Amino acid sequence: MTDTLFDHLLSPATDPARLAIETADGARLSYGDLRAATGRMANVLVALGARPGDRVAVQVEKSVEALVLYLACLRAGVVYLPLNTAYTPAELAYFVGDAEPALIVCDPARLDATVALAAGAPVRTLDAQGRGSLSDAAAGQPDDFATVARGADDLAAILYTSGTTGRSKGAMLTQGNLLSNARVLQTEWRFGADDVLLHALPIFHTHGLFVACNLVLLSGASMVLLPRFDPADVLARLPAATVMMGVPTFYTRLLGQSGLTPEACRTIRLFVSGSAPLLAETHRAWEERTGHRILERYGMTETGMLTSNPYDGDRIAGTVGFPLPGVDLRITDPATGEPLEAGAIGAIEVRGPNVFKGYWRMPEKTAAEFRPGGFFITGDLGRIDERGYVHIVGRGKDLIISGGFNVYPKEVEGEIDALPGVLESAVIGIPHPDFGEGVVALVVPDGKTPVTEAGVLAALKERLARYKQPKRVVLVAELPRNSMGKVQKAELRNVHAGVFG
Ligand code: ATP
Ligand code: MG
Repeated sequence: MTDTLFDHLLSPATDPARLAIETADGARLSYGDLRAATGRMANVLVALGARPGDRVAVQVEKSVEALVLYLACLRAGVVYLPLNTAYTPAELAYFVGDAEPALIVCDPARLDATVALAAGAPVRTLDAQGRGSLSDAAAGQPDDFATVARGADDLAAILYTSGTTGRSKGAMLTQGNLLSNARVLQTEWRFGADDVLLHALPIFHTHGLFVACNLVLLSGASMVLLPRFDPADVLARLPAATVMMGVPTFYTRLLGQSGLTPEACRTIRLFVSGSAPLLAETHRAWEERTGHRILERYGMTETGMLTSNPYDGDRIAGTVGFPLPGVDLRITDPATGEPLEAGAIGAIEVRGPNVFKGYWRMPEKTAAEFRPGGFFITGDLGRIDERGYVHIVGRGKDLIISGGFNVYPKEVEGEIDALPGVLESAVIGIPHPDFGEGVVALVVPDGKTPVTEAGVLAALKERLARYKQPKRVVLVAELPRNSMGKVQKAELRNVHAGVFG
């Protein structure tokens, strides 16, 4: 046995009879089954020519086999590179050109399109049921595979960022990055072998792949692997689980289910939310309905998890809690990187064993995002309150500068969201002839109390300094979100670019 991430996740010491994964249709895989499946898959990877350090690009639906492929890559020392299933072939071409994978695994429906852009790399298939030419090849392979020795600094995966603020960047994550983060979360969130995680997140993203799966496997726990998030299905399965992790949209959509009661959550010990801000109102509504206080945490592709509300102690709505053990987190002047006085809003910078090695083949970009002392500039703005809780006030790229004053969208959104008749809002800056940028609010009515532009503007006059008040309020049916529930502000800025024009 070598001291690799794989051996920690699927430890030979774990009882092979223990349940690891249960699927939506009731199939059950033990740790022994999973280990054997990764052995067969790792043998296929080698047979197809993937060598340690090579990339394997994977754009497939969620399945047990997709998870086996991830683990097999770790086992074979191959760099796992999952891609969002929503990417079109044209987008895929960018990732393949960038990553130069030794093997591409795609959905059978996309085989021709993928072969066309593969630049000669072998292409194998895996469908939503885990069938395809990759599984066929694995079926004939032996279960045994000698796990390839890897050091903490060797790459385990390249994960592309969500592309919320621009083109996705490939974050190089090492074995040590992933293991250290999973270990910290295991302790902080009290994970144990008896936990059952209800897994409804996608597995091409850090939340569903590393936070969820690594933590379960490291703990010798089990998961119920659902193909997607369906609120009624998730609600029905809560009584079989002890933990659920979700993006905020999971929680708002579950709140729309009449069956969401304390009884439905009786076996759950922990609800975790992240990937996008959880509205304080959702946090409160959830507690009212279920008796549980959602634990909100903050992290990103490049760093894994950075902060968490406490397991024991106050989980404060609207905050992302304390820096995790081992994470150095500071608030700095975005222009200079100088630490700011306590309580001030500034750039969030982090350092720790969880922080990635750099952006794949982007040395200049990597250099630009690190301070000389090794702090990574997250791109988020925030502050630390007097009790030490971190508050995210938004992304640096979403900061609005109107008439020379900084406007933090989250503050304005918070005021608008509190108005009667408002479901949610997004505040953006749009080029303005006099002010540089003008504040524009997109407001989603809740359909219960009528909302008007004039009404919102009048209400905010009492609440916000003049420069923070929106110059326009546009009522919209919904906000554009990506698969992780992140509001796409860049898209909103494009759509509304001409409002002052
Ligand atoms: P890109 O970097 O390509 O623009 P992205 O930043 O959305 O995309 P991810 O790495 O998936 O890509 O997301 C990390 C970001 O998600 C964080 O930087 C932060 O802005 C946001 N985020 C994550 N958790 C939270 C949270 N609990 N509250 C507020 N924001 C969060
Ligand atoms: Mg980012």
